[in-house]
Amino acid sequence: MRALLSGGMVITPSSRVRADILIDGERIAGMLESGAKVDVDQRYEIDGMLVFPGFIDPHVHSRDPGAPEKEDFAHCTKAAAAGGVTTILDMPNSMPAVVDAESFEERARQHEDVAHVDFGLWGLSTGAENLGELPTLFKAGAVAVKVFWGYYLDRSTRALVYEPGGIHADALIPPPDVGELLEVCRTVARLGGVLAAHCEESSILRAAARDLGRDVETYDDLLATRPVAAEAACIALGAELARATGCRFHVVHMASGRGVELVRQAQQKSIPLTAETCPHYLTLTAADHAALGTTMKVFPPIRDEEDRESLWRGVADGTITSIGSDHAPHTLEEKHSSLANAPAGVVGVETLVPLMLDAASSGRVGMERLAWILSEGTARLYGIYPRKGALRLGADADITVVDPAATWTISGDRLHSKQRFTPWDGQTVRGRAVLAFLRGALVMQDGEPVGQPRGKLVRRANPQVEET
Ligand SMILES: [Zn+2]
Repeated sequence: MRALLSGGMVITPSSRVRADILIDGERIAGMLESGAKVDVDQRYEIDGMLVFPGFIDPHVHSRDPGAPEKEDFAHCTKAAAAGGVTTILDMPNSMPAVVDAESFEERARQHEDVAHVDFGLWGLSTGAENLGELPTLFKAGAVAVKVFWGYYLDRSTRALVYEPGGIHADALIPPPDVGELLEVCRTVARLGGVLAAHCEESSILRAAARDLGRDVETYDDLLATRPVAAEAACIALGAELARATGCRFHVVHMASGRGVELVRQAQQKSIPLTAETCPHYLTLTAADHAALGTTMKVFPPIRDEEDRESLWRGVADGTITSIGSDHAPHTLEEKHSSLANAPAGVVGVETLVPLMLDAASSGRVGMERLAWILSEGTARLYGIYPRKGALRLGADADITVVDPAATWTISGDRLHSKQRFTPWDGQTVRGRAVLAFLRGALVMQDGEPVGQPRGKLVRRANPQVEET
């Protein structure tokens, strides 16, 4: 099967050129001068459209297996396709968690039956407890390992434990201390991998909660109990660990201006520290809580206008290298609880691309930069480039076609996740992914997923994983 995408403007991180893209089977077979005559089975006329390397969402909690009432892999990959994402990277903290090669392969098998887009898998670092498993996890092709800094884990399921009080110590894996994290960094550096961290220092969070002295009632209370210092302290420590070991340390879902400063300073000293932020930190502020309530409750919390502006500057100057949705659905019933009790997390995989295209339309970020942060840069970070993230000969024909002029309104009702509510409900945006191809096959048209599940696992390429 040969297909031609004809008449579009091809966007890469460094250029925009009018070119036709020839697809042969699952791969890109050529970039042709626009209007070139070729024999193909199918032709897509896409004049006026922008053509991106398929977008990648590196931060998705599919909840599968473990919490099917919140989300499952079929729904979240349909939602991804609908939003113009062709690869997601699934976080390891489903139940059971991905902590070794066996659980990695098991998860891959489960997901491949239902995946509508390709996917990579994260591994979970539980500190010293599974240090010996990291080589086999990377050898299996884990895109990175993640540590939930300061969280206790359930010893049998490796689930995150938010309230360890009252649970017997034997049933818990305590949070890794900084010395353990240093060892994890040393190991990940040796393996040529990436260590990513949820950065909120737990003893600072506990002290802040004691300072407040009562339950969280207002959004200001929530901010007071999760201060910037908690994120900044972890990032500063992460920078030191990265400096000491050479480990590539990646801060996920960075939410504060202070975080941006610390990452920037570290990068200026050539420390291998990188950072991700999320659309909710770039588009919302604390002031939105009055209208949105717990729908926008996430950890770390969404902060002030000043933080939002700093994060945008970080995106613009390259300090922030990747943007993920942190898709972390909960049921509407769960979210309808009080601010203190509602679980943290937004429904986000389907709105990642629309919100970023809208930002590009309004001039906040260049389309070329989007090709980096939502595709090539992310693919490189997680070791799946150039199979993913590249519009070039031999790469997977993962392509997202965007209508930059389409103006439309985001609606919770029309989401493809199991959870059909969103902080951006009713928001009008400009720019829309209108076609998505996964390894040469059409998987989305006009915002609707099409075709049968054909997503496959993509493994991190690991030149440095030893055979031992
Ligand atoms: Zn997350």
